[in-house]
Amino acid sequence: MVRYRAAWVLPIAGRPIAGGVVAVADGAITRVGDYDGGPAEDLGTVALLPGLVNAHTHLELSWMRGRVPPSSSMPAWAAALIALRRSVTPDPPEPIVDAIREARRSGTCLVGDVTNTLTTYDPLRGGDLSATLFRELIGFAAPDPGALVRSATDQIAALTPAAWLRPAIAPHAPYSVSPALLQAIAHANGSRPFSIHLGESAQEVEFLRDGTGEWRALLERIGAWTASWTPPGCGPVGYLDRLGLVNERLLAVHGVQFTADELARLAGAGATVVACPRSNRWTGAGIPPIERFYASGVRVAIGTDSLASVEDLNLFAEAADVRRLAPRVPASRILESATLSGAQALGFGAELGSLEPGKRAELLAVRLPAGCSDVEEYLVGGIDPAAVRWLEADSR
Ligand SMILES: [Zn+2]
Repeated sequence: MVRYRAAWVLPIAGRPIAGGVVAVADGAITRVGDYDGGPAEDLGTVALLPGLVNAHTHLELSWMRGRVPPSSSMPAWAAALIALRRSVTPDPPEPIVDAIREARRSGTCLVGDVTNTLTTYDPLRGGDLSATLFRELIGFAAPDPGALVRSATDQIAALTPAAWLRPAIAPHAPYSVSPALLQAIAHANGSRPFSIHLGESAQEVEFLRDGTGEWRALLERIGAWTASWTPPGCGPVGYLDRLGLVNERLLAVHGVQFTADELARLAGAGATVVACPRSNRWTGAGIPPIERFYASGVRVAIGTDSLASVEDLNLFAEAADVRRLAPRVPASRILESATLSGAQALGFGAELGSLEPGKRAELLAVRLPAGCSDVEEYLVGGIDPAAVRWLEADSR
């Protein structure tokens, strides 16, 4: 058994403990609390907290870092990404390995990784991160949704299992996946998390309302439009609700366009909103109403999105952007979003996301400046990877 003593212990499940202790045995936490005497490794002026959770990224797009310029129109940004992606097959693996290392080095222990190809599975198996992998399907005019889902299910079944990697199937977005395919995915997914880009751009709202606008034009241009689709004439959350997809398994990623009613509906269903504000700025989707997310009572997780639309995979930097956009939200709630809420949404709530007996000892030590009076506020102010250290080599 090892006991660590730190200037601050942040269990996330409870208030920060000054001079607290975390005891670990066989890769699991056995005790969290006040120092009670006895031998303990003194870590000094650091904050001890659980590893962070990046609830939304696309590791396979890591080779696009800096190659899809920021835009003021999300459909225009997406068109540039599609054109670039078609120029290279498959997605190169080395940047995926580098991105996994970068995420780990900056304090992340768990990711929600969206992948169209599952090429990220083997790099993740060789790396230090746990993951829910969302095998993403796209198909707006798909004639046989069942066949698409079966092929994804077969692909997942062929993977070498690893306890810390949990594959699921996920739809891309309401403007790129048909209603029949949305439902087929949910059916095949069962009790696993269900992630979808939702309420991201104003053009998505327009498309669902009356079937027009830039998304419609893009679908037509790439030959994916079908006249058999009838616009539902409602918002993105109402649309998913009609299809029976609003529940506690739902990760609604982005939510830039969500209204108060939509957030209330998600909160009532126990769903999660994943805030990715840096990506929203880059893609032209806009500024997410993060204070309204928290005020609604919905579970809020945080994601960086992919390196095609963000500078780095440092979740501390993303949390700092959340803090900047939501100055009235307590720092403790933003830290909970960056840890426990993400772990719960990704189906890892029993093992990660907080310092509690029985959970895996993914322990992060963050160096604090001398005289730091508000450790929670400090941690949501942006932390450089150089100040971050993992204590246990591997608790898996
Ligand atoms: Zn995304």
